[in-house]
Parts: sequence; structure tokens; C-alpha cells
Amino acid sequence: MRSIAKIMTTASQLWPLYLAVVIGAVATSATALLTPFVIARATDTVVDIAEGRGGSVADLMWLAVLLLVVALANSAITNIAGYFGDVMSVRLRTILSTSYYRKLLRLPQRYYDNELTGTIISRLNRSITSITDFLQIFANGFFPTVVTLLAVLVITAFYSPWISLLLIIIYPTFVWLTALTSRKWQVWEKQKNDHYDISGGRFSEVIGQMRVVKSFVTERREADSFHQHYSDAVVLTKQQSRFWHSMDMWRRSALDVVFFVIYAIIFWQTATGQYSVGTMVLLIQLTSMARQPVTSMSYWVDATQRAVAGSLEYFKVMDKIDEPNNPLEAAPVARVGWSDDDPVIEFDGVDFGYSDSDELVLRGINLQVNRGERIAFVGESGGGKTTLVNLIMKLYPVTAGVVRVHGQSVAEVPTAALRREVGVVFQDASLFSGTIRENMAYGLGDVTDEQLETAARRANASGFIGSLHDRFDTEIGERGVKLSGGQKQRLSVARALLKDAPILILDEATSSLDTKSERAVQAGLEELMEGRTTLIIAHRLSTISSVDRIITLREGRIDEIGTPAELATTGGIYAELLALQGATSKADKAKL
Ligand code: ADP
Ligand code: MG
Repeated sequence: MRSIAKIMTTASQLWPLYLAVVIGAVATSATALLTPFVIARATDTVVDIAEGRGGSVADLMWLAVLLLVVALANSAITNIAGYFGDVMSVRLRTILSTSYYRKLLRLPQRYYDNELTGTIISRLNRSITSITDFLQIFANGFFPTVVTLLAVLVITAFYSPWISLLLIIIYPTFVWLTALTSRKWQVWEKQKNDHYDISGGRFSEVIGQMRVVKSFVTERREADSFHQHYSDAVVLTKQQSRFWHSMDMWRRSALDVVFFVIYAIIFWQTATGQYSVGTMVLLIQLTSMARQPVTSMSYWVDATQRAVAGSLEYFKVMDKIDEPNNPLEAAPVARVGWSDDDPVIEFDGVDFGYSDSDELVLRGINLQVNRGERIAFVGESGGGKTTLVNLIMKLYPVTAGVVRVHGQSVAEVPTAALRREVGVVFQDASLFSGTIRENMAYGLGDVTDEQLETAARRANASGFIGSLHDRFDTEIGERGVKLSGGQKQRLSVARALLKDAPILILDEATSSLDTKSERAVQAGLEELMEGRTTLIIAHRLSTISSVDRIITLREGRIDEIGTPAELATTGGIYAELLALQGATSKADKAKL
């Protein structure tokens, strides 16, 4: 319940709406309570007329009109309250979803390494729906019921205290029993949700990688596994439903017995002349009104527990610790006073592991990169090259040691300022749906056509962009699926060029290009690397022959540092690769 209260305070600006909904609901039930009184009065009038004790038909007609007025008022209030209820729900959903999204944008990269997109979405939807449902049910069910019950208790106490006593005893008992039994129900609910989360996660992954599914012909397997999760959920739902309905059956039967006693009391008291026929009608109607909530009570208990679970799930994410100094919430910093004297990038005794339990991926890294230097990283795949450049952007916190940029520890520099210093071409191009223009200008303000064209030309992308139907306005599909690997890479290079950052990181940026395009991109980059500090990760050694220094990584450690010429003769990784690639390129030439 605390978590629900926390939700309500999260969206505390909605209090006028909560209040409107509650007032509406209370007014609805208050007007509904008038009807039995009017009918009781009418009954007594009819009896009086029949027994010749006065009373007039005109009075009866007025009572009928009164019934109409009450009914009209009731339906007007119901609908007005319904409108406020809808607005409250949708506003609450907006607030909760937006805060959740903002939270996700602030979480560290590590969180995303361990979660499936679809699962995140499935959980978010469920928790928000459970919370808004809960509020709706409470506003429209709980408060009116409390009003009705209180009124019924007071009125019956006046005529027949025994009936009030019975009602006072059964309600708490029923709430208690329902809450008790629904624990079991909740366990099933949790298992069911796990199935939905897992299949939801898989679902979005499969949709996103349909080519792989098609090429491995795994359609049937994916469909079956999806179906299996849903079938397991069906089994659980059946269990829930059987349990729920058998409980409900007991509940209703017990209630029937209680009401048998209540009616017997009413009939007996009327027959012995303790009150009029009209009062009997009144009491029967009022107690029937009190009976209804008992049957819906189990829905409230379910809704409450679901909302408790949903809000706990919600806060499981909301209470996670943000990436330190995340740009979304941090005060905007224009420029950090970077020092020009220090090395541009410095690794000082850095150890790094992706999680505390995993083996270290980088060990004892010491490295200084000077202004304007071009450095290449060479090493086997999985050797930690990408990891190393990730640390410069502070995508993960180091396990030990310090990474500095312009002499300042990245841990302490405002994140936005740090990341603005770095232009990066990711290993997997990483584009978004939308147009080429939108992708190239991602994260930038206004970009002129001229700037776009220059960047495209330097990245050797003008050729293919020019041949597209809508040129810069061509839609490239989710993650750029409509482009070839090489085209994506060139676009990604162009995007990094436009960012115009002092540090440029190229993580196998040209690996999908043929030799000719690679040369062309290289030529464009040459000019651009002028005056910038550039880190290049490449496996084609021809692309890095002109760098200032090469750093080779082996099993997470720096193996060698030297100029290409120096390392060519040491017999290390670079020399080995050089020999290998020299041999293959000679073989290629021989084929030609
Ligand atoms: P390289 O770029 O040199 O090919 P990476 O830096 O990508 O190598 O990976 C180095 C090691 O770290 C690999 O063993 C890989 O399995 C591991 N690794 C990479 N990314 C992650 C991650 N997000 N979570 C856990 N381990 C990772
Ligand atoms: Mg890599």
C-alpha cells in the first residue's frame, strides 16, 4: 500500500481530479440512496389509499416525478464523474509513463546490457495499467460503496439494530477472507506475468531481427515458443479462475445465508407491526444495495494487489540509481574549462570488468594520448578495444584506476560536456528510423544543407545518397535496415563528422566497406583528423599505416606501443597480422 501512496504523491498535482472523482462518486451514491425512500413513501401511500386511510393519486404522481428527477440527476452526475475519471486516468498514465521514460534515459548503460527491450515495455504497460485501473475502481467502486454502506448501516440501525450488527460483522470478515485467499492468486499472477515478460522480450527482438529468423528458418520455433508462454499463462489463468470462482461461490453462499437471516428479521418485524410496509420495502432495498459491494469486493482486493505489485515494479526501476551526472537532469554546462597542457586522453592504472563477478576485461591500462595524435588499437576480437573506448565516454565506471580527458577524471567531469568532446562511429553503425537528414543531424541543432553535403562528401556518402529517390529525405527504416552495411557505416561516419568534436573515435568504422570505398572515406577523414585527436580501431591494417602510434591489446592488457614502423619489426601482434594480411593481399593480387 505504501507503494501506491508513493504513486499518488508522484502524481500529486492531480489532486483536484482525484477529489472531483471522489465527490462525483459520493454524489452518485447519495442520489441513488434517495430512490428507496421515495419508493417506501409511495408504497405507504398506496397502502393508505387501498385501506381508505387517505392519500391521493396526485401524491403518487409527484413521487413518480421525484423518482424521475433523482434518476436524471444520478445519470448526469455519473457521467460527469466518469469524464473526470477518464481524464484522471489518462493524466496519471501520462505522468507515470513520462517519468518512467525519463528514468530510463538516465539509467547507466549496464542496465540495458541486462534487459530486453520488449520486457521493459511489457512491464511498464502492466504496472501503469494496474495503477490506473486501481484508481478508477477505487474512485468509482470503493468510495460510493463506503457511502452507501454507512448510510445503510445508520438507517437500518434506526429500524433494526440486529441487521446493522450483522452487516457490521460480515463486511470486515469478507474483506479479511478475500485478502487472505488472494495471496495464492497473486503467486499465480506473478508467474503469469513472467511468461508475458519473457515472451514480450523475445517478441520485440524477433521483430527487430526478422532477417535472422528467416535465414535460419526459425519461424516455427519462435511461434511455438511464444505460444508456449501464452499457453502456460492460460493454464495459470485457469487455476486462478477456478480458485477465484470457487471462493466466490463460498462467499456468495455465505452471503445468501446472512441475507436469509436479514430478510427473515425484516419480515418478522413487519408482520409483528414494528414498522410499516413502506419501511419494509425501504429496508429490503437498502440491504440489497449493501449486498452488491460484497460481490465486487473481491475485485477490489485483486485490483489492489495488482496495483501494489505494479507500483512495486514501477519503483523497482524508478528507485534505481541514475548514471552519475546524467545530462537529462544535470544543469546544462556550456563548456568545461579543459586544460591544454595535459594529455587529451589518459588511462592511469585502469582495470575494468563489466560486472563485479565477471573476469576483468581490461587490466592495468596505462596510456597517454596527446593533442592531435592519431592512435590505432589493434588486437584480437574480444580483446577489449571497444570496451576501452567506451570508458573514455564514461559509458561504464572503471573498476580501478582513473580515465582522464584533458587532465580531468571522467568520473568528475559533467557527462554532457565530456560526451560532447567525443565524436564516435560505433562498430554497428547504430542508426535510427527516420530520414538520412535526421540521422546525420542527430543531437545537433540546425544543420544547413551545405554542412550535410560536406559531411556526406567527406564520408564518401554523397554518391549513394545522391542516387536515392529522396536524397537526404529518404527514410532508412528501423536502425537503417534499408541501407547496406557500408552505407550505414558511411552515414554513421558523416554523423560523427557533423558533430565536429575534438576527439574522434572510429570503432571499425570502415570494416564493412570495400577497399575502394574505404580509401575514399579514409581520404575524407584524413582532412578531418587534422587537428583532432583520433582513436582508430581497425582490423584492416592498410587503414592504419599512417597513424602516429599503434597500441596492441592482448587479453585485456597493452602488449606493445610504437609507431607502425617500429611494431612491424618486433614480432608482436601487429607484425603477425601484417604478415598475414600482406600474404592475403598478395594472394588477392595474384588472383587478379
Ligand atoms: P573488441 O572490441 O576488442 O572486439 P570488446 O571490448 O567488445 O572487444 O569486448 C571485450 C570483452 O568484453 C569480450 O570478452 C566481451 O565478451 C566482453 N563484453 C563486451 N561487452 C560487454 C557487455 N556489455 N557486458 C559484458 N561483457 C561484455
Ligand atoms: Mg569491438
